[in-house]
Amino acid sequence: MLNSESLYMNRFSVRGVFIVGDLLDDRQHLNFKWDKLGNIALGRPNLGEEVPVAVYRLFEYSMGDVLAHELGAERAEELTRRAGVKAGREFARNVLNLNLDKKEFLAQLTQKLLDLKIGVLRVENADLEAGIFTLTIGEGLDCSGLPPTGELVCNYDEGLLEGIFGEYTKADFHVREVDCWATGAKTCRFRGRQA
Ligand SMILES: [Zn+2]
Repeated sequence: MLNSESLYMNRFSVRGVFIVGDLLDDRQHLNFKWDKLGNIALGRPNLGEEVPVAVYRLFEYSMGDVLAHELGAERAEELTRRAGVKAGREFARNVLNLNLDKKEFLAQLTQKLLDLKIGVLRVENADLEAGIFTLTIGEGLDCSGLPPTGELVCNYDEGLLEGIFGEYTKADFHVREVDCWATGAKTCRFRGRQA
């Protein structure tokens, strides 16, 4: 009997990439670009642009649950990471000045993550010439305060950092979390290297 992952693969491999492309063309909301975020100020004149962190996590972890039960844990983590990459690239292109030198870029990124309340970024070491860095994110939007499961849960942030640094350096990055609130650390730590 086919599991859901192989059904998913069959559906797309049998129908082919052109069919998949046509399907996606009919569903604009599934082709993410920055402008798909819309004019939030216009659309929410009374409620405003911010929501509680719990609402963000409600979406993130319910989506993770469905992906994992449909596709398996490993695939769910990979797809979550890939969504982070897409978000990171769009974020970098639309929010960050990519023409700054490395020191200024890291300062800018730190300030933006603070302004957007994503987390408190600290650069432990970064040698972008050599394509390596270690960063921590305190009070992280995704995981600070989660129950201690002993797991590294910030796959989306791994991808987000891959996307941001990839867009800035025009090279592919591989980023993995090595400490997380959910593993008992008080800050998430990410190690990145040029792929
Ligand atoms: Zn974490």
